[in-house]
Amino acid sequence: MYTVDAARSWATAVAVKDGRITYVGGDSVPGGLIGPETEVIDLAGQMVLPGFQDGHVHLLTGGVELGECTLFTLPTPAAVADSIRACAAARPTATWVRGAGWELTVFPGANPGRALLDSLVPDRPALMDAADGHSAWANSKALELAGIGRDTPDPADGRIERDPATGEPSGTLRESAVHLVSRLLPARTDVELAAGLARAQRLANEAGITSAFEAAADERHLRAFAGADRAGKLTLRIVAAAEAEPDSGGIDDLVRRLGTWRKRYSTRRVRPIAAKLFQDGVIESRTAALLAPYLDRQGDAGTPTYSQPTLDSLVAALDRERWQVHVHAIGDRAIRMTLDAFERARRANGARDARHTITHLQLIDPADIPRFRRLGLVANFEPFWANGDEYLTRLAEPALGPSRSRWLYPIGSVARTGAVVSGGSDWSVSSIAPLDGIEVAITRRAPDDPGPPWRPEEVVDLSTAIAMYTINAAYANQQERETGSIEVGKLADLVVLERSLFEVEPREIHAVRVMRTIVEGRTVFERRE
Ligand SMILES: [Zn+2]
Repeated sequence: MYTVDAARSWATAVAVKDGRITYVGGDSVPGGLIGPETEVIDLAGQMVLPGFQDGHVHLLTGGVELGECTLFTLPTPAAVADSIRACAAARPTATWVRGAGWELTVFPGANPGRALLDSLVPDRPALMDAADGHSAWANSKALELAGIGRDTPDPADGRIERDPATGEPSGTLRESAVHLVSRLLPARTDVELAAGLARAQRLANEAGITSAFEAAADERHLRAFAGADRAGKLTLRIVAAAEAEPDSGGIDDLVRRLGTWRKRYSTRRVRPIAAKLFQDGVIESRTAALLAPYLDRQGDAGTPTYSQPTLDSLVAALDRERWQVHVHAIGDRAIRMTLDAFERARRANGARDARHTITHLQLIDPADIPRFRRLGLVANFEPFWANGDEYLTRLAEPALGPSRSRWLYPIGSVARTGAVVSGGSDWSVSSIAPLDGIEVAITRRAPDDPGPPWRPEEVVDLSTAIAMYTINAAYANQQERETGSIEVGKLADLVVLERSLFEVEPREIHAVRVMRTIVEGRTVFERRE
């Protein structure tokens, strides 16, 4: 047992009573701990770690998507097409055909055309989200219903991709342009949400996850989580970030609304303590906000979501109400603006143990790296992304050039400053398995990829990678006093792995099987073969 306590000590036995850890140490368990009712599990050399915590995941929408057309990791346009055709045929009465997960790298220019989707779904509107959630692909019926034509201007913070010859919408929509269509979709029912949660938490438990940071929850999502917990059905802890986009009511209205949600949907295992903001998009679609222009888009450096004064006011208002602010920032400009906003909020409201977080952190200007530690921020990375795949080598790096690309996903550099670095999956964007993320964090290459590591100067060691998904994520989730390590008095959230991660080759970590997942002393997943 690698306990991940402050001394990073090892043990060979743990005792649990009433959901809490009562003993951690050697095999000679003190007398009285094992009674006639005690279940004794001989792990026969398997490894125990604190239950994994995912620092950024879209559990509910990911689970719902699994009930629709799922296109994740399909490698060719033909495979995507086959899947959509089958999925549409299986849902003859659905008014819309919905799906998610097509990879940007599969289509030229990350730009699938509507003609293909028209041929697959000719009779109904169809909308397929991209794997990264920042683009979507619509057929002609959907575009028509949304009133998107040749003369429709791009919305603020969004782009309607167009045929360069005719100016007609090509079918691919970026960022806020997606909403022009998605707002027409029928709302998911409470039954669909509950089924999605059930699917997602099963997957999470199978991957060894005992706590998840739900990265963007609206009120109905929060209600689904709280409802599941009140019904005794929730098999992991949820720390939720409420979507914090101000509408016409402005910032005061937003803060009031979130305050109501926090009161209404807090349960024993559900804690809506964070507020989620987006400060930019993604580099692959050229919607991330950069300090210098994209090399392939003359003078265009991307546009941040909020101006600096608006971001400052939003962050300060949320900080004042004791929210943990969780900001999506990908480009070096969006990241710097967010750091500035946190610094100003701290000056305005006074320093407190806020644990504000910046998530994704794809391109950090080196001058900003020490600021995370200095401002007491959590740096949330999705280590799986730092694997040198085509999103990086074909879509991102060419737009940045070599010297800026050096600072893509600088996990090691941020960790070396002593800042708290947490790990997340961003599932359903990418694999939910923490073991996949841990492997890439220490190898900087995709599981089963025989090639050389990608930017190996930013690797972290195995202890750091494990901490990212246990004690550090617990700190980000504001529950490190109760979870995140194996220590007497803490909640018994544990994962049992087939083999010790310290005894397998780094590139084999993803293949180590999760044997058992325990939440508060109760087994929520057990491998049966
Ligand atoms: Zn996300």
